Amino acid sequence: MGRLAIPDIRLITMTALGPFSWRWPDAFESFERGWAAVVTMDGQEFHIRHGIGRRNVYGRSRVHSVTWVEGNPTVEGVESDDFDRSASLLSLIKTTKRHLRPGDTIPPDYASFPVVVMAEEVRGPYSPRSLAVKLRQEDIDGWARHALLRAVAWDRLPKGRRNRLSLPPVTGTGPAPASVRPHDDTEVRAAVVAALLKYAGQHRATPQTPAVDFTPDKEANEFIRTNSFAFLVGVLFDQGVSAERAWQAPWHLRQRLGHLDPERIAADESAVLAAINSPPKLHRYTETMPRWLVLAARRVLTDYDGDAGAIWSDQPSADELQARLDAFVGIGQKKAAMAVEILERDLGVQIKNLERSDVAYDVHLRRVFLRTRLADRDDRDHMIAVARELHPTRPGELDLPSWLIGRGWCRPGVPNCVSCPLTHACPKDIERAAQVASA
Ligand code: SF4
Repeated sequence: MGRLAIPDIRLITMTALGPFSWRWPDAFESFERGWAAVVTMDGQEFHIRHGIGRRNVYGRSRVHSVTWVEGNPTVEGVESDDFDRSASLLSLIKTTKRHLRPGDTIPPDYASFPVVVMAEEVRGPYSPRSLAVKLRQEDIDGWARHALLRAVAWDRLPKGRRNRLSLPPVTGTGPAPASVRPHDDTEVRAAVVAALLKYAGQHRATPQTPAVDFTPDKEANEFIRTNSFAFLVGVLFDQGVSAERAWQAPWHLRQRLGHLDPERIAADESAVLAAINSPPKLHRYTETMPRWLVLAARRVLTDYDGDAGAIWSDQPSADELQARLDAFVGIGQKKAAMAVEILERDLGVQIKNLERSDVAYDVHLRRVFLRTRLADRDDRDHMIAVARELHPTRPGELDLPSWLIGRGWCRPGVPNCVSCPLTHACPKDIERAAQVASA
């Protein structure tokens, strides 16, 4: 199958795979994990499978991958000597049966790939002085593209167009491009931040509607918007349960208690305990949450003269307000930073120095920051610093889009990169968030 133009290759869907094995003519090979993808090339659909395991090769045990196109093993990858640092594997460029050597012309299809000399990156017996691509082991786009290019060059693709019913509908943002792979991290991060802010722009609050509804219940939402203590209670409850359940709690509490008065709450701990824990329970922290609520009510009485609105009504700076909220037992960095953003963005509270606002260190934001490579590691202070560095005029503005994308697309396990609003900017470093559990 000869071609002149560079093929248009697009990743359509991807599914993570658990362990599996493959029978070679002379042996079995086991793979610890991998992925299966549907990819289009110039509009024609292909199934790609990728397995990652280990094998003794070039003198020692190394990470080894195989990529199948339409069920045929097509390219192999082998751990580079600097794997600990680069997490990359090498795979020979073979557009004919002959290896390409240093000095040979690199085929135009490979112009966007990092190309190295195999023997210089994999030192061991029989490692050839041949040109190879060097791809991160999680670079799904790269491995799919490399395998398809090999299959094209060797004329191994089935002819004829096929349609598969399993394909998802094309979304507004379109499928993930196969070649999102800028190697300059500064460029990647700038593109991701721009995409996050663009997405945030679609969730601008108006005087009538907040950026995001607190709950599906209009009365509960209105209560939070008009009662300062209800807002504080919502912030307190927003931990360990879904956001919708947390923000409905103030409304339900008022129904159950007959009031949401800080003075009466501070004075009657047993009534609060019963109100939160009568079925259906308003929170899963059955003892801690009632205690936090009573302590919050007491603090509002002693420090703010019974008016929770006084916490933010004097036009505080973003960092001062975050510190005031953080001082409540049960409200830490995550909830305080989130509350600052909601107050300013959705409730029209005047807050100064938004350049001192912060993102909330939340599971959804953590996954997005890691997979987009905004952050190098899962560390609260690091992620806060990253947001300050990349969006210095208002770091906290990155919070809502990251949270929404983490919740909606960048799920634990297999994210929905195909329709994710960040798909064109994100390097999709999916494995980096493997340790970040679901909320
Ligand atoms: S779902 Fe996650 S990994 Fe996929 S494009 Fe979106 S942010 Fe990136």
